[in-house]
Amino acid sequence: MDSSEMLREIVEETCGLVKQAAHPRRNTLKLSPELAGALESIRFHETPEDAAAAAGEVPENGEAAAELDYLAEEVSACEKCPLYKSRSQTVFGQGSASSRLVFVGEAPGAEEDRQGVPFVGAAGKLLTRIIERGMKLKRSEVYICNVLKCRPPGNRDPRADEVEQCEPYLMRQLELIRPKVICALGGHAAKTLLRTTESTGRLRGKWHFYRGIPLRVTYHPAYLLRTQDNPERYQTEKRKVWDDVQAVMRVLRGEDNPQQEASTGHLFD
Ligand code: URA
Repeated sequence: MDSSEMLREIVEETCGLVKQAAHPRRNTLKLSPELAGALESIRFHETPEDAAAAAGEVPENGEAAAELDYLAEEVSACEKCPLYKSRSQTVFGQGSASSRLVFVGEAPGAEEDRQGVPFVGAAGKLLTRIIERGMKLKRSEVYICNVLKCRPPGNRDPRADEVEQCEPYLMRQLELIRPKVICALGGHAAKTLLRTTESTGRLRGKWHFYRGIPLRVTYHPAYLLRTQDNPERYQTEKRKVWDDVQAVMRVLRGEDNPQQEASTGHLFD
């Protein structure tokens, strides 16, 4: 039975029960356990895209996909900063133009530079586990990209001039995909997208907005890997990332609406 048939059946049964239970002095309504369960299982979705995603359908976004391909071509020939001299290839992004969640990392590492795909090295394997085991999503359901599209030599931090030259590509990716949520992995992504100098520790745990899109900051998986030699710290930091991705999932499932909270949340502060 599809969800509209199910909804019709539930509404009809509820109407029948309301008529039976109608009593001038009673303000309660008795429902059968089956009907109560069915009512609970109904999810109302804000947009047709949300409903399609909940039904496991990936809506068509052909125009954006074509534009993304075109942009990837342009990026592959980019020589705007000196990083083009040392790269094997550019690492544009991976995932569908219809993704509802975009992860933004820092820059490709050695393995990403070799394969041309973001997050495929050790940190990438951890990110994949976070997506698949923590969020119960397929990696192919999300879009993954970086602030820089070329590997900085020796995996050094991105330089301000490199970020400045490269960030218009990221902005265009986000404009084309228009995800429901963005997750910034670590300080470089967070600082670039939010134009802030605050630390990841201070930025995480709350909602931010990138051009109206809810954005959650969490620790970069490479940072998590670095804490592994201190098991207690690793557990604490892993727990924080878990909390962050659960907050992201609540928005994807339509259980939380950060935009609404932002517009009403500070009325009594
Ligand atoms: N770290 C990143 O920030 N991006 C990658 O693609 C890989 C590692």
